[in-house]
Amino acid sequence: MGDIIVIAEHEKGRLKRYSLELVGKAAELAPQLQGRVHAVLVGEGLQALAEDLGRYGAQVVTILETPAMAAQYNSDGFTTLLTKFIEATKPSVVLAAASPMGKDCLPRVAMRLKTGLIADAVQITVADGKVVARHPIFAGKALVDCIVKSEPQMVLVRPNVFPVPEPNKNGKAEVRAQAADPGQMRAVVKETIEEERGDDDLTEAQIVVSGGRALASSENFKYIRELANAIGGTVGASRAAVDAGYISHDHQVGQTGKTVNPTLYIACGISGAIQHLAGMRTSKYIVAINKDQDAPIFTKADFGVVGDLFAILPLLSERIARIKREG
Ligand SMILES: Cc1cc2nc3c(=O)[nH]c(=O)nc-3n(C[C@H](O)[C@H](O)[C@H](O)COP(=O)(O)OP(=O)(O)OC[C@H]3O[C@@H](n4cnc5c(N)ncnc54)[C@H](O)[C@@H]3O)c2cc1C
Repeated sequence: MGDIIVIAEHEKGRLKRYSLELVGKAAELAPQLQGRVHAVLVGEGLQALAEDLGRYGAQVVTILETPAMAAQYNSDGFTTLLTKFIEATKPSVVLAAASPMGKDCLPRVAMRLKTGLIADAVQITVADGKVVARHPIFAGKALVDCIVKSEPQMVLVRPNVFPVPEPNKNGKAEVRAQAADPGQMRAVVKETIEEERGDDDLTEAQIVVSGGRALASSENFKYIRELANAIGGTVGASRAAVDAGYISHDHQVGQTGKTVNPTLYIACGISGAIQHLAGMRTSKYIVAINKDQDAPIFTKADFGVVGDLFAILPLLSERIARIKREG
């Protein structure tokens, strides 16, 4: 029983949505563990973000200030900083997102702390003073509840499985800033190259345009990309499209892919198998384009178009581009 530390991430001056989800979840669990919610940020000039975390439920926020890592994630540096911080703070639980950073860094931290880590959790509860994390096994065929017996209990949580709490404008965290030494870093990030529009982080996207098996080739994914570009969306895909090699696995939405939670999800030539729905069913508005009027996706769609996507998508992208041009 004790405090929960949330490893909070930020990019381009904004907190990652999954970090806010984790703070909200931690605030729900902390009373059952008789502890506090303690968030940690790494970088410089992060006072405003620390205060934001307070509005979402963090009671204490520590900023590990290090000029070397003001903007860039670094495996060695983050591992050293977070290990030292957790050793000094002695929490019961550490929560981080199963993001690229979380998946790279937290197993290293767990090794150094000689504790256990549960990866890819989709639910967290508390029983007998311990956190119980549920996560998929056997490529998503079953779910298992796990407990880390040692402390801190470390859990990587899949993004978009918890709601982001409503911010409380009176919520205030105690913000502590401390200079931190990342130690020796064997590699440094010299340059970051922005991905082409349409390949942004799916888990953070507000608009997702996904293509399925019906696309029939990687070239035809241009229709998905064009629509995504036209409406400022990010490209997703079904597993059938990924398995067929039309697009890479990092675009896969679903039980064995990414969980998304956008305002608008457009499913093109996707039947709506339960494993696909598992990754996008919480989208606010779902639009389906499918030539089979009995496709299961239509039972989940707010708006459906029955027709051939190869006829519909170019028209849609062109019409949106024209509206944008003509204002
Ligand atoms: C353990 C396990 C995990 C899985 N994990 C995932 C996962 O993470 N994500 C995932 O997506 N799937 C997952 N699957 C696979 C899932 O069961 C489906 O097989 C898959 O989602 C089907 O993809 P699809 O809808 O693109 O293809 P299909 O089911 O073949 O559907 C294609 C659709 O396109 C329509 N269509 C065809 N031509 C056109 C056209 N010209 N215009 C418009 N519509 C057209 C058809 O009517 C059809 O509805 C998993 C399966 C298992 C067993």
